[in-house]
Amino acid sequence: MTTKAFSSLNLHPDLIKNLSSLGYEEMTDIQAQSLPHILKGGDLIAQGKTGSGKTAAFGLGLLNKLNVKRFRIQTVVLCPTRELADQVAKELRKLARTIHNIKILTLCGGVPFGPQVGSLEHGAHIIVGTPGRIEDHLGRGTLTLHDVDTLILDEADRMLEMGFQQSLDAIVEQIPNQRQTLLFSATYPKQIQAIANKIMKQPEMVEAKSTHTNLSIAQHFYKVEDDQQRIEALRLLLLQHEPETSIIFCNTKKEVQEVTNTLSNYGFSAVALHGDLEQRDRDQTLVRFANKSASIMVATDVAARGLDIDTLDAVFNYHIARDSEVHVHRVGRTGRAGSKGIACSLYSEKESYKVGLLEDYLDRTIEPELLPDTSVLSKIPKTPIMTTLQLDAGKKQKIRPGDILGALTGDNGIPGADVGKIQLGATWAYVAVSKASLKKALRKLSQDKLKGRNVRVRQITS
Ligand code: AMP
Repeated sequence: MTTKAFSSLNLHPDLIKNLSSLGYEEMTDIQAQSLPHILKGGDLIAQGKTGSGKTAAFGLGLLNKLNVKRFRIQTVVLCPTRELADQVAKELRKLARTIHNIKILTLCGGVPFGPQVGSLEHGAHIIVGTPGRIEDHLGRGTLTLHDVDTLILDEADRMLEMGFQQSLDAIVEQIPNQRQTLLFSATYPKQIQAIANKIMKQPEMVEAKSTHTNLSIAQHFYKVEDDQQRIEALRLLLLQHEPETSIIFCNTKKEVQEVTNTLSNYGFSAVALHGDLEQRDRDQTLVRFANKSASIMVATDVAARGLDIDTLDAVFNYHIARDSEVHVHRVGRTGRAGSKGIACSLYSEKESYKVGLLEDYLDRTIEPELLPDTSVLSKIPKTPIMTTLQLDAGKKQKIRPGDILGALTGDNGIPGADVGKIQLGATWAYVAVSKASLKKALRKLSQDKLKGRNVRVRQITS
């Protein structure tokens, strides 16, 4: 049996101390299996999903060997999406709290180049980013990777699926051969093996225990006749379970839009997330979902990759997923951190074979259940109590969350309990307020000055 105590590892004492302050009592399965080898400097391929603790597995490895006095880029972490890159950077910063002056920089697409170039000129120890943008920086000469000694590929299978193979090749070519390479992937298709052969040296393989034994997720399956019945089934299930936050997975962008529109017509508060959205709309959608002013997110698998949402009450598979891995990954987004979650999957006769595959994969039998009785149609869809306001000022204007909170609650303002999440961007900010206080909040923010300047404020609807 592998020991699970972090203290059994050859880790810097400061890192270990910080782990207990983060509440990490013992290693997760993937950490226990991979850290001893990572700390020895070896290459490693690890099969493990989001939620397995994989970020800390590679994060502790790279932080333990990083020399903070040497102000050069020493580590590159490649991720398929900006959301995952942000999530990884966040976790690394948490793990690195005891290392002073460490600089972790994210480089992702969909945002302007200028500020990234500026940050690169100031230097960094660790780069976390998406392959396309990192390749662009290399091409422009705004980034050099000569001093990198650790390369990490996170969700490598997704990077390939998203067509990043060429960018990966171009990046790896710029990194010295004398390095440690760690590859994390939920699945292990042939292309990953091919990459591993090309860029790794005698990698050790570890496979974390699958998360599909998560007993706190109740899975339900429903058989539907046609698309008309499919959307009605979804409506019934939403009314029956009344989840505060849920994701509905669809197979195509078109379907995402259709389902979102129909649910909105039925009075639900649903937002769409798919690859065709402008970056700004995508950000707003995520903000509204995260701050609870939208309760249902309708998404494709690719768009929902790497989303950092850990309190989903329910996952709905509008169509059962194409393969069982994807199904388990979707369903694993609910019931996290010990909370109870439900997962409802819809399928038609034509899709029955996928249920068969899933039965094999999960090693259980699946029986379709009866849909909720139509009496639930008398219920009115629950809408969120919060709404989102956008301000046209942010970090650049030296705005801090406290300034916004102060303006809202001070001087005959709204109660603090009516203010939700506040998120700051470069030149904008989002704040959630309860709908009951909307008018007053709009008035306070547009009349009062923030940091001595007038700000424009508007409610984001859709
Ligand atoms: P990840 O799979 O890297 O996305 O991590 C999933 C979550 O588990 C993150 O929120 C981590 O902060 C948390 N986590 C990672 N390692 C541990 C640990 N050993 N004990 C408790 N929580 C952990």
